[in-house]
Amino acid sequence: MLEDKNTQNTSLAELGEFGLINHITKYFKVEKASTIKAIGDDAAVLDASEKQTLVTTDLLIEGVHFDLSYMPLKHLGYKAVMVNLSDVYAMNGAAEQITVSIAVSNRFPLEAIEELYAGIQLACETYNIDLIGGDTTSSTKGILISVTAIGKAEKEDVVYRDGAKETDLIVVSGDLEREKQVFKVDPNNQPDLDNYTYLIERQLKPEARKDISGLLKELEIQPTSMIDISDGLSSELFHICTQSKVGCKVYEDKLPLDPQVISACEEFELDSTMVALSGGEDYELLFTVPIANFDQIKGNPNFSIIGHITAENQGLQLVTRANQDIPLKAQGWNAMNDH
Ligand code: ADP
Ligand code: MG
Repeated sequence: MLEDKNTQNTSLAELGEFGLINHITKYFKVEKASTIKAIGDDAAVLDASEKQTLVTTDLLIEGVHFDLSYMPLKHLGYKAVMVNLSDVYAMNGAAEQITVSIAVSNRFPLEAIEELYAGIQLACETYNIDLIGGDTTSSTKGILISVTAIGKAEKEDVVYRDGAKETDLIVVSGDLEREKQVFKVDPNNQPDLDNYTYLIERQLKPEARKDISGLLKELEIQPTSMIDISDGLSSELFHICTQSKVGCKVYEDKLPLDPQVISACEEFELDSTMVALSGGEDYELLFTVPIANFDQIKGNPNFSIIGHITAENQGLQLVTRANQDIPLKAQGWNAMNDH
């Protein structure tokens, strides 16, 4: 059902590198005031404002980061942009431009690259981002895609990973989708997908949380630390705690899980807490705020308070529903086998 349905095949060799670049970039419009020159010269030109500039890159390789038999190219293009926008949003910044570099083997026809760029374009339009350049080359095998995102933030608004302080509250946006973990159980025996539309949508077309920065501003909250959840909650808590030199306590019964995740976990006999802690790639944001912000966060449907920051020597602890403290591990938690 997820296969590329293109029947036409135009060879890339026929088109040549410049023909390909022209073809795939001609439908992109430039919208941002800060984009002075986009595609077409030796370098793009951006207007450097008084704000600070945020730059982030990801490289995705077929067979390592994605598998085209599970993911349509359009979704891959969309997701490759999301990964990077999410990193800009996790600094509390506004993403403005991207560059996209691809290496493609001749196994791909033009129509496949068009699909990839349709996903990139949809992401650019939805998130109001300019595509300002990139590079195009051939590969001997498979497809590689590298996206760089450029964003801006006021100096005082930038949020790093190292600012969490003892007693700060630990907050996550949205709920924790762990569908990938669920489907890892048996990739050869795909479940009836109709029950999982939301999960599949979240996995194939994840949305970066562009809105969180504004929501926090409205609430007059400046997080002390922030990170996006691309490798799983546990792993991200480790980054924040290590860099901030603190410990943490998170509560099993506070982890926000979507009902579809819970029922999928039941069906596949997975522990939903383990799944919540160790899954990844949903691009929700994890952040810490001073305890004085409790009233602004509490009861806000966009946020869940899942625990608090402790002293470094307390380590990272999960408090179970049975009120037991269990040390968190970077991948899930160590009691998962006897749970
Ligand atoms: P150069 O040889 O100077 O690096 P290229 O011929 O590679 O220039 O690229 C021409 C223009 O097209 C440049 O503006 C470049 O940034 C842009 N470009 C090249 N490949 C891509 C791509 N895959 N996606 C978006 N823009 C691209
Ligand atoms: Mg080039």
